[in-house]
Amino acid sequence: MRIGVAAVIAVFWSLPAAVQASDCTAAYARASDHYSSFIRSPAQKKYHERWESLAGEFEAVAEKYPDCHKADDALYMAGKLRFDCYAFSKNPNDLEAALGPFQALIAQYPDSTLADDAQFLRGRCFELMGDYDRGRIEYQRAIQRYRRGDMVRQAQAQLARLPQGSAPPAPKPAPVAPSPSPAAPSAPVSPAPAVSSPGASPAQILTIRYWSSQDYTRVVVDLDREVEFLPPHLLKPDPNLGAPPRLYVDFPGTVLSQEFREQTPLRDGFYDLPIGDGLLEKARAGQHDQDAARVVLDLKSISDFHCFPLPGEDGGFRVVMDISGQKTAPARSPATQPSASASPATTAPAPGPRPTAKKREPAPAPAKAGKAPTRSVIVIDPGHGGKDPGAIGPGRTREKDVTLALAKKLKARLEKENPELKVVLTRSDDRYLSLVERTARANTLDADLFISIHCNASPNREAAGIETYYLDNTTDRAALKLAARENFVSEDKQTKADSITNLILADLQTTTKVNDSVPLAGLVQESLVRELKKEYSNVHDLGVKKAPFWVLTGARMPCVLVETSFISNRREEKRLVSSSFQDDLARAMARGIREYLNEHPELAAAWGE
Ligand SMILES: [Zn+2]
Repeated sequence: MRIGVAAVIAVFWSLPAAVQASDCTAAYARASDHYSSFIRSPAQKKYHERWESLAGEFEAVAEKYPDCHKADDALYMAGKLRFDCYAFSKNPNDLEAALGPFQALIAQYPDSTLADDAQFLRGRCFELMGDYDRGRIEYQRAIQRYRRGDMVRQAQAQLARLPQGSAPPAPKPAPVAPSPSPAAPSAPVSPAPAVSSPGASPAQILTIRYWSSQDYTRVVVDLDREVEFLPPHLLKPDPNLGAPPRLYVDFPGTVLSQEFREQTPLRDGFYDLPIGDGLLEKARAGQHDQDAARVVLDLKSISDFHCFPLPGEDGGFRVVMDISGQKTAPARSPATQPSASASPATTAPAPGPRPTAKKREPAPAPAKAGKAPTRSVIVIDPGHGGKDPGAIGPGRTREKDVTLALAKKLKARLEKENPELKVVLTRSDDRYLSLVERTARANTLDADLFISIHCNASPNREAAGIETYYLDNTTDRAALKLAARENFVSEDKQTKADSITNLILADLQTTTKVNDSVPLAGLVQESLVRELKKEYSNVHDLGVKKAPFWVLTGARMPCVLVETSFISNRREEKRLVSSSFQDDLARAMARGIREYLNEHPELAAAWGE
């Protein structure tokens, strides 16, 4: 993304323009609200005309207010919605419909930070339509016109994968779900096989990992790059076949990597990963057909599931499947449940590509409702670690070192203040942990609170202050930029962060305890500002904010991410490395947590005053 001129223009708005701009901003905000509720509703997304009408709403904003600073965003959304709709409809008409708004954005707002994204997505549209020559031209433009843009690397990668010539024209499927009369419920979009790209090398499934606890299992499919996968299917048990309930996901244009096949036993045409935790019998993966891999979960019990994609930290891609249910009597044969089995917090992370079979001793215990009320579990997550240093200050201070020191101090303080608390760190040394694993640890521990600790950074060295985040959509560009950095995605994925995370969050609102996280964020933030102001000057309160942090995504408990200070600011960097400031930060955070727990006696043992 490049620095746009929209912000500069804003300074020179004349009054009538400002009035118009506020109308425009309101219209754009309305469309964004509609988008937010639409994208959170799996039922709505099945209907073609809902996609279309939302795209039309954004398009209308751009048409009515061409001089508004949101006009380029509106055109981008109009194109992106049609592009995303294609993932459901597989109807090339949707791709064709996306081309117009993208082109209008490029032509009318050449300085928009989204122009290169639009150019790139035009390439994707043509590529998916099988017109590789046009796709090539669009990718080349994305590279040449926007040399400093963040889509250059992706465009280069797509160009390298693009086969020569064009694919035989794909047969157009019959028009999908013609718009029904308002009274009649419309027919769902039926997913059809994806347009395959002959000649392009298929994506690969590298590993399948899982983390498991009493009533929850997280399965993560790791891929070498982003793929479009089909929505998961839940199959009822089939007594005739003796088949358990199953959940499966198909990955068009994907194969199982050689390494995966070599390391995983093959049974009945599927590579098997036994789980046997009482909730899942096993996960298995197979080549469903030549062009598509299928991952199947054989279930014992299921009450709820969520399936969402997350870009991997190293340019790879993940699909996360979170399963909740009531465990049936778990198999407790000594062979499968070694007594030495560690708790998940101390189990080594799954290094390397080897499929892992991480087990937690599933001692049959009452469900959460019957959990002993005296022992609350708090998981503290020191951001970054290992190969990911996080932000680096002007004095070469590494964020990962500060967050670890802070997390240790916070744990010690919480445990000292209240011995009834069990405080677990996601990492207690300098090691790399993926974001999905951090959340999985909190979920498998059935933690009551999850606190991720970070240091802020900005190219503006003057930027300073403390802010606390909870997980939600946002249109705040600064928050999105920060989220992209904390999500450890490369710069060229930054712009994409808002569209991808919107889709991710769509599925998660029911499990992510946003409502409980907001007051937690408020109390921690207030306490930090109040306590630190007593000791230090220049403590800036940047407030409670929301952003799509992937480390909070799918957490089943109230969770917040604290940006303790700016490591990029010399004064604050100096503070962050000092042990006394770290003590003060830990004390203030502990106080905020304590206030929250005291307001939730169902969580906390009485806190000794
Ligand atoms: Zn960070």
